[in-house]
Amino acid sequence: MTPAVDADLVILGGGLAGLTLAARLAREGSGRRIVVLEPRTAYQDDRSWCFWRPEQHDLSHLVSRSWKTWTFSDEMGVSIRHQVPGLTYQYIRGSDFYASAQADIAESAHVDLRLGLRAETVAAVPGGVRVETSAGSLLARQVIDSRPRAAQAMLYQSFVGLELEREHPFSFDPREVTLMGSLAADAEGLRFLYTLPLGPNRAIVEWTRFGTAPIARERLLSELDERLTGLGLADARRVRTEGGVLAMGLGRQTAPPIPGVLHAGNTGGALRAASGYGFLRIQRWAQLCTESLIAGRGALGHPAEPRVRRTFDRIFLQAVRAHPERTAEYFLALARGVAPAALVRFLSDGARPADYARIISSLPWTPFLAQVAAPAAFSPAPARPATTQTPTAETSVQR
Ligand SMILES: Cc1cc2nc3c(=O)[nH]c(=O)nc-3n(C[C@H](O)[C@H](O)[C@H](O)COP(=O)(O)OP(=O)(O)OC[C@H]3O[C@@H](n4cnc5c(N)ncnc54)[C@H](O)[C@@H]3O)c2cc1C
Repeated sequence: MTPAVDADLVILGGGLAGLTLAARLAREGSGRRIVVLEPRTAYQDDRSWCFWRPEQHDLSHLVSRSWKTWTFSDEMGVSIRHQVPGLTYQYIRGSDFYASAQADIAESAHVDLRLGLRAETVAAVPGGVRVETSAGSLLARQVIDSRPRAAQAMLYQSFVGLELEREHPFSFDPREVTLMGSLAADAEGLRFLYTLPLGPNRAIVEWTRFGTAPIARERLLSELDERLTGLGLADARRVRTEGGVLAMGLGRQTAPPIPGVLHAGNTGGALRAASGYGFLRIQRWAQLCTESLIAGRGALGHPAEPRVRRTFDRIFLQAVRAHPERTAEYFLALARGVAPAALVRFLSDGARPADYARIISSLPWTPFLAQVAAPAAFSPAPARPATTQTPTAETSVQR
């Protein structure tokens, strides 16, 4: 006799992907029994999620800031300003997203978010998938696994950011986001500042580096400190810290797939290889997955990357790997040579053939042509999964 399942779907990890799906299923009332397992006992303000969208959309109630202008600049301070009529760069505070998803889940009798629980081994068994947890085991019909896992990647984007506040206004314009500021590169790779002004006296300032291996948080923090001193921000109060390592261009997984288990979120292919943006892609996946579950077809993984985009991103990342010292030049060429709307479409998965043509014609051809037929090159999987450090280590709140 087949044993009774404890849940139709168990979601491992209540981060962005797990909570987005669970909250959507809670709102849309699939009638299925869903369990989310999350080791954190409480959520903190550990992420700043940004993306380009028109002003009104289904998550606009969570957007706490939006900007009409975003800039790119080099180390000499030469700045390129971008705007797209009808689009803004929008910011959702991590804590607002978590609170909203938790409230949706709390309304549902079918969705159960279990905090303080860690998923351990997962195995296919007769009748479903057995999940061993830090507090007993569960039998599920299907499992979605969004836990970070070590994987080969073409490049790593390592970053750390501080939310800063002070009595007197900052010198930068609160109406403009610095998307890539003080862009520079050397043999190790690209580095730049990312600044989200949250008001005249409050801002998030992040320091990012691209490289073929993850970069230690302590080193990034010390480099960010130097930049803050240079910007006259050393005296600002540090409200909180955030950061992580994003794996760009994932290699094939060596672990064999487990029947009934799908991977989602960053480690399921949610991150755009060439950019590290994942928020909107996770929203789209959660919508498709919810529709499929409600239609009785079971859960879905992330859709496969269309061939043109996959190929373009591979060539781009390979050119960056082959000539890390030229990376700042590539990004500045894109900022100067591609119309803002086309660049946003490219970063947001909506590029048209003419956008690709413009992007190609603005980049130096030789280093990119050299990579067209070259096989993809990956760095070995790091000992710790990329994507994120453990949430508690990643978020330090200083008040
Ligand atoms: C600081 C930061 C800022 C970012 N900003 C942006 C942005 O502005 N725009 C954008 O598009 N993308 C951004 N990203 C990229 C991407 O959107 C995020 O990484 C996003 O959180 C990915 O969602 P996820 O569910 O895959 O991973 P996570 O949100 O990290 O969720 C994974 C979950 O798994 C849980 N977990 C770990 N181990 C276990 C276990 N054993 N059992 C059960 N659960 C476990 C973790 O606690 C965590 O909650 C950012 C990433 C980071 C790190």
